[in-house]
Amino acid sequence: MGEDNPHSPSATRHSPFVTGLQLRCPQCGKGEVFQGYLKFRDHCRACGADFKAADSGDGPAVFVILIVGAIVAPLLIILQYGLDLPGWLALAITMAAAIALCLACLPPFKALLFAFQWKHKAREATHEDVE
Ligand SMILES: [Zn+2]
Repeated sequence: MGEDNPHSPSATRHSPFVTGLQLRCPQCGKGEVFQGYLKFRDHCRACGADFKAADSGDGPAVFVILIVGAIVAPLLIILQYGLDLPGWLALAITMAAAIALCLACLPPFKALLFAFQWKHKAREATHEDVE
């Protein structure tokens, strides 16, 4: 992680994994992509890259819900059967964990998808791809 990809054009020399998970600009890796929780800046404060066109919308929420669901489903089973907690308590803990995980995962995940989208867009700017 963190190594520059030698095949990338100079504009996308930062790994989307690194810039995404650090909530940094996919172009320069310096400026933050968010102003506040989950709201993209209009542009990068460090390099001026335009973020307006690349909002990943609700896509990340779907992934986060799937991932969080996969994490908390076994947790519910462990709490209820492994630790022998009452069902309501296990469920309450699981729901709290799910909400906390969603809130914790959304910004880096959204920034990560944004970074991939950014890289993808930068590569296809030549109009040579015909589907
Ligand atoms: Zn930047």
